[in-house]
Amino acid sequence: MTQFTDLGLAEPILRALTDEGYESPTPIQSEVIPAMIEGRDVLGIAQTGTGKTASFVLPILNRIIEENQRPQPKTCRALILSPTRELSAQILENVRGYGRHMRISTTLVVGGVKPGPQIRALSKGVDVLVATPGRLLDLMQSGAIRLNETRTLILDEADQMLDLGFFPAIRKIVGHLPAKRQTALLSATMPKPIRALAHEMLDDPKQVSVAPASRPIERIEQSVVLLPKESKKDLLLELMSDRAVERAIVFSRTKHGADKINRHLVDYGLKSAAIHGNKSQAQRIKALDGFKTGAVKILVATDIAARGIDVDDVSHVVNHDLPNIPEAYVHRIGRTARAGKSGVAVSMCEPGEYEYLRDIERLTGLNIERVFVGDEAKFLAEARNATPAASQKKQSRPSGKKRPFTADGGGRPQGQARGQSGARNAGGNGGGQGGGSKRPRRRARTGSAAPVRA
Ligand code: AMP
Repeated sequence: MTQFTDLGLAEPILRALTDEGYESPTPIQSEVIPAMIEGRDVLGIAQTGTGKTASFVLPILNRIIEENQRPQPKTCRALILSPTRELSAQILENVRGYGRHMRISTTLVVGGVKPGPQIRALSKGVDVLVATPGRLLDLMQSGAIRLNETRTLILDEADQMLDLGFFPAIRKIVGHLPAKRQTALLSATMPKPIRALAHEMLDDPKQVSVAPASRPIERIEQSVVLLPKESKKDLLLELMSDRAVERAIVFSRTKHGADKINRHLVDYGLKSAAIHGNKSQAQRIKALDGFKTGAVKILVATDIAARGIDVDDVSHVVNHDLPNIPEAYVHRIGRTARAGKSGVAVSMCEPGEYEYLRDIERLTGLNIERVFVGDEAKFLAEARNATPAASQKKQSRPSGKKRPFTADGGGRPQGQARGQSGARNAGGNGGGQGGGSKRPRRRARTGSAAPVRA
């Protein structure tokens, strides 16, 4: 088995890895680190949980040690672009952690906070800059930072950056970097626009594709409760009141929905906080810190806000709404069962979300344990007549040609795109899914090995 000492990393980095307690590199690290140390570009398909962050951070640090130069004012030597503030902050934390035995200057440039401190931090120049594209572009335009000295560029979570509409900003940013540079692009999926971007920006890249190192999905006890929309609130309270819940993330498809769910939980006396894109940076930090320390037991989140959350002891993930993009399901439930632990993921599916459930099962190749609350035949009849609950929302990658990832890292065909579904066009407006019992008939279990039963 490859060891960190085989990869060509400098001693201060190896020491930091020993401090972290890492015994050996993950598969993506074994491939990406030597390639980047050789100076090659990299195109990686990898999700969070594979150790991908260290795979690009460690070679950056190694290069900084080898080159042993101070950065010029208002420049950075390495630039890491990521889609969200949280993920950027987490990457920066990693850079500082792995760089703790070396002299290194780092800073974070993200939106939602005043630019003044960021501009001051950049004025002397930094070794490693972690940024979200929008704010970085603003600071470039105001002259606070120039990228003509940047030798390494990382584009992390490229598919998420595509979804958020960052590609024009990325193209502008990259236009200011020297042509002679090292670039790595990482993405959980590889739809066409990302391949095209990679083609534009990478030079003969080493291509790496890995399944999640720990395959957390296999350790997650998954179930889906099929129920009328109006029963969701009660079921959520039941699930969240269970003593087996130590720390839970509840996912909502919309920001507004996240606020409503959070208010509902707080009104019930549960320690809950919401995190989404309309919250200020201070509110987001407060919610995340509270969640990490345990002061907040339940975090209600949208997909984008949750992307960067790396907290080890999340015992439960609840999908209050099923995501309309099936990959998001895998990302969501992967928030539990981290660091070798097991976890419970319960999803709620109203009739209008049934198509999403089918998409998720096609993508993952799983038959998720189903529990009906109320009348099964009635639910299925309503599902057949329902418009998907979020059909009016944009489909981020409408081509349906995403490279699917699956529980075993393989590439099963994804099946038909949602737009081709017969159910979608069968009428109805997604509302009015009345009927069924108001309350789940029996308590859904959250802590045992058995799936939820109704
Ligand atoms: P990432 O995929 O970068 O989000 O990393 C997922 C988790 O794996 C993080 O909590 C890292 O601290 C951890 N990790 C990264 N590399 C290793 C390694 N070689 N051995 C054990 N854990 C690791």
